[in-house]
Amino acid sequence: MPINTDRALGAVLGSAAGDALGASYEFQPAVLPPTPIVWRAGNPWQRGEWTDDTAMAVPLLDELAAGADIRTDEALGRVVRRWLGWARGAKDVGIQTRRVFAVLERELEQHTGAHDDAHVARLCKTAAAQVHDVTGRSGGNGSLMRTGPVALGYLHDAGAVAAAARAQSDLTHFDEDTGDACVLWSLAIRHAVLTGEIDLVGQLGALAPDRAEIWRARIAEAEGREPHEIKNNGWVVAALQAAWSAIVRGTSLVDVLERAVRAGDDTDTVAAIAGSLAGAKYGASGLPKLWFDELHGWPGEHAVDLETKVLLVVGRE
Ligand SMILES: [Mg+2]
Repeated sequence: MPINTDRALGAVLGSAAGDALGASYEFQPAVLPPTPIVWRAGNPWQRGEWTDDTAMAVPLLDELAAGADIRTDEALGRVVRRWLGWARGAKDVGIQTRRVFAVLERELEQHTGAHDDAHVARLCKTAAAQVHDVTGRSGGNGSLMRTGPVALGYLHDAGAVAAAARAQSDLTHFDEDTGDACVLWSLAIRHAVLTGEIDLVGQLGALAPDRAEIWRARIAEAEGREPHEIKNNGWVVAALQAAWSAIVRGTSLVDVLERAVRAGDDTDTVAAIAGSLAGAKYGASGLPKLWFDELHGWPGEHAVDLETKVLLVVGRE
């Protein structure tokens, strides 16, 4: 069956647009109607500039565009190397990801010599586990925010989507909630690209039965609350819930993104998460032309560059 390219593009561009829309509202209180959500600049972000959410998704998209399999440590190691290069000059890196990279950089320095890509990926996962052990938690939303491209590489293989989603999450996030969230969301993105329908509960079968029941309750809870009523959205569970609340209430891609940004706090990430799934339903054509034209960010790319890469990925399917 031919892939609907508008919906495939939406998974990546919807996420990037949500990221850029939410950037100027990050760490602020909820913004409720009738106050409008405005496409605008906000220190340190230019108007239309995406943040770490999309920056961290780009290397995953690039690997898929090059025909690599992001379930392998070789491909994941190349992703980690690019993340490290980005993080050294980035305007923002999430707290948990920064901790993991600090441990990893120390490890790479102490054991100089050749590190092949697969070894770098394994060291990164070990660093994530260490951070979890030291801090007692690692349930940040930083791996869910970058899942936009994951499903696109494996649209005809749900098992591969689930494996790739968890593999990329494990690089920086040890907590099982983070891997589960990435699996559920990526499978829902796949389903939306293939069918034009959104079905999150229908993906629960990919989780272990006890985990599926926990997530079923969390999804139901989110449906009963407005995005701003779901607190602590830097936590992966609350971020997914807030994004889901925005999606089930929204009537268009822009409406979903604005509802996600209204949540306050980690606005860019909640909107990036919401945008990957809503974009896969409504398609990139649901974005205003101005947003498409102005979207840009690390590594010096624009929406058209992401578009070219997504078309390469789905052209392989
Ligand atoms: Mg961000």
